[in-house]
Amino acid sequence: MSQLNNSMHAMVLDKPGQALNMRCLPRPQPGPNQLLVKIAACAVCRTDLHVVDGELPKPKLPIIPGHEIVGRVVSCGANVRDFSIGERIGIPWLGWTCGQCGYCRSGHENLCANAKFTGYQIDGGYAEYTVADARYCFRIPGNYSDVEAAPLLCAGLIGYRALKMAGDADRVGIYGFGAAAHILAQILRYQGKKLFAFTRAGDTAAQDLAGRMGRCG
Ligand SMILES: [Zn+2]
Ligand SMILES: [Zn+2]
Repeated sequence: MSQLNNSMHAMVLDKPGQALNMRCLPRPQPGPNQLLVKIAACAVCRTDLHVVDGELPKPKLPIIPGHEIVGRVVSCGANVRDFSIGERIGIPWLGWTCGQCGYCRSGHENLCANAKFTGYQIDGGYAEYTVADARYCFRIPGNYSDVEAAPLLCAGLIGYRALKMAGDADRVGIYGFGAAAHILAQILRYQGKKLFAFTRAGDTAAQDLAGRMGRCG
């Protein structure tokens, strides 16, 4: 039905602290730098829960949450050169940056004070379609399913970034053991490195997960 009339279903947060509401909305149109994407999967990140619970300041409201998005390109804006229709892509938390500030110009655009984030200031992935700035999208390798790839767009990405910043350390300590750490643990095992997980006293769920992820064989 949504294919025919250019509308889509979306889960919308009208007000923090309330449940999401399913709405029928117009399908978004891509701007010059954007892709229109038909969403195949969108994972749930802790930050989505913070947005829904009102624990992050000044979200765009109403907002469609969700920032671990995997989908296929339906159409491209006029300036898009790097992606083509039908390609499978991932859309992460970082959705737009100013391009002008010191952080942006030194390759640290994730620290841009004017950044906009998917599912927070830009409508996100709990919908049938979304638009995303192509400059922040990733091509997804074919050996991952849609569902397997989705958590890599936030938990995997921030974990891997932290690991890269640790250089060639043989022993890596992780403080807290949640979504990012459980992905990172599998990479560290693959690389044959030693992992030390630090959790809160009594957090047996995190300790059990760390034990399962860290054990060899
Ligand atoms: Zn996230
Ligand atoms: Zn900036």
